[in-house]
Amino acid sequence: MPALKDKICVITGAARGIGRAIAARFHAEGARVLLTDINATLGEKTAAEIGCAFQKLDVRSEDDWARLANTVPQADVLVNNAGITGFEDGLVAHDPEHASLENWRAVHRTNLDGTFLGCRYAIGAMKARGTGSIINISSRSGLVGIPLAAAYASSKAAIRNHSKTVALYCAQHGWKIRCNSIHPAAILTPIWEPMLGTGPEREDKMRALTADTPLKRFGTPEEVAALALLLASDDATYITGSEFNIDGGLLAGSAATQG
Ligand code: NDP
Repeated sequence: MPALKDKICVITGAARGIGRAIAARFHAEGARVLLTDINATLGEKTAAEIGCAFQKLDVRSEDDWARLANTVPQADVLVNNAGITGFEDGLVAHDPEHASLENWRAVHRTNLDGTFLGCRYAIGAMKARGTGSIINISSRSGLVGIPLAAAYASSKAAIRNHSKTVALYCAQHGWKIRCNSIHPAAILTPIWEPMLGTGPEREDKMRALTADTPLKRFGTPEEVAALALLLASDDATYITGSEFNIDGGLLAGSAATQG
């Protein structure tokens, strides 16, 4: 039997990248997937390609979450995947000395407020049946300091902690609603394109960016989707409040070159 047969699964920021791969995998496993994204044009196109439903949802918007609660009052799985680095419109200062409060807040609004609102929606949509799985996409950057991306690192660290709070809260209420975080690093998605470019130096840049990764390559969105599938499925009913690194071994040791 498919792992997610007839489970209602909502995925945010799923028009492309990791969210898209999760939506496609969940759909292939029999789920009733609602793909959501801030980008309606691409979201609708992606959903049509996968064969699932689409609803526009800006994770920062309480109104959008309220609309979702109307259209999908009961859900089995929510993946809080939407996230931004803060470099979408080009290089701006995100170090702790020069970052503007406005830019700091903008990253937290999407990554952290979006995840908070998503968890709040999911608890409401799952507690009637008392069962479900919330999967929050954090990052390797939520586990270590990132000098040039302070807001990204801070917001991803907060997601890690909030996932545990949600897990404990649900357990305290006697619900079988699980909440876990996934911590990817260097997964080849459009998020990297501004840094890689399309020129002849692309391969060199990719090698340089993964030089410290023990497996010496980028991960794929499908590899993250496989982990999300496990956490969404009924094979993971004893897993809650946990964090899962998917990083080609990066966090297994020190990245410092051995002397
Ligand atoms: P992408 O940028 O490829 O995809 C993210 C999607 O989220 C885009 O479609 C984007 O739309 C959408 N989005 C942005 N803001 C909002 C919003 N406010 N509401 C709803 N949707 C929104 O990213 P990835 O697939 O690479 O990343 C997915 C998640 O994984 C993110 O949380 C990211 O931080 C995390 N991650 C990724 C890593 C990687 O190496 N790729 C490593 C570690 C963590 P639009 O393009 O229109 O803004």
